[in-house]
Amino acid sequence: MPLSTRRKFVQQTSMALLGSMLVPEAINMQVIMTVTGPIKPSVLKFTLVHEHILVDFIGAKEQNKNRYNAQEVFETALPLLKDVKTKGCFGFVECTPMYLGRDVSLLHRLAMASGLTIITNTGYYGATGEKYLPAHVYKETAEQISGRWIDEWKNGIEGTGIKPGFIKTSVDKGPLTPTQRKIIDAAALTHLATGLTIGVHTGDGKAAREQLEILNARQVLPSARIWIHAQSEKDNAYHIEAARAGSWVSFDGVNQKTVQANVGYLQTMKGERLLGNVLVSQDAGWYHVGEPGGGKFQDYNCIFTELIPALKQQGFTPQEINTLFVKNPARALTIHLRKMA
Ligand SMILES: [Zn+2]
Repeated sequence: MPLSTRRKFVQQTSMALLGSMLVPEAINMQVIMTVTGPIKPSVLKFTLVHEHILVDFIGAKEQNKNRYNAQEVFETALPLLKDVKTKGCFGFVECTPMYLGRDVSLLHRLAMASGLTIITNTGYYGATGEKYLPAHVYKETAEQISGRWIDEWKNGIEGTGIKPGFIKTSVDKGPLTPTQRKIIDAAALTHLATGLTIGVHTGDGKAAREQLEILNARQVLPSARIWIHAQSEKDNAYHIEAARAGSWVSFDGVNQKTVQANVGYLQTMKGERLLGNVLVSQDAGWYHVGEPGGGKFQDYNCIFTELIPALKQQGFTPQEINTLFVKNPARALTIHLRKMA
């Protein structure tokens, strides 16, 4: 069927599926929201907390769904998703935000076809010189911006009925620009209204610290924040400080070249008894819109084939590995209010 008809069909199918499920509106429902509906946190098993399927780097002004063939992306990604599922993956957090190629109908189709539990997001990406921010960000207040994100939580994304499972934002290195500060503030307001966890792609430790100050001003606890790309900060002291404050610290650049470095980060956090605040993922995938066939698509296997064997060799116990890949993702993604008393 033609692309537009198929897209409509997918959306209607998603709506029908979601209509029959429990769709919580209130905060503190203690569920995890996936693209196929809410699940109990105890249902979530081994989860990759930061991966991508489709990414379009053209910029907010020009980004749209006509720039790629969703069927081609589907056919490219599906075998790799099925492959990582056979390796033991259950949950898959897709971190591509809107204006950078978020396509929730595509994610829904891939979840159904692969059997993986896929989670999507709401929020804006303010890093990379703010190239991926829509123009309205500069005119609107944090309250108005958060209103748009809260609407996606309440009413679903782009008419599909599919809901975000977390907030994804991003900032460059500190100090943050006024607009980046506004986005973090909008994320704090969205958290207070929805209980969604705030993931922030972060340039360095100073930027990570400044985010917690903005959240603190809204009485949002550090445990509501995931410091995405913590490996971009080389000074461990920042990771330890953030984790001690209760924040999630995400080392999410695992690939063949960085396995040993990641073992090192995890050994440091283990030595500080902070593994309970650490997340690990790969930032893999990436069908690049605009490149023939999507360019090089990185598989999702490295954690299973290389990192976990290396961790075991260094004395990490099955319980510690379970903490990193099962317990922590479930806790980090459980939708509930984290506000100072
Ligand atoms: Zn990423």
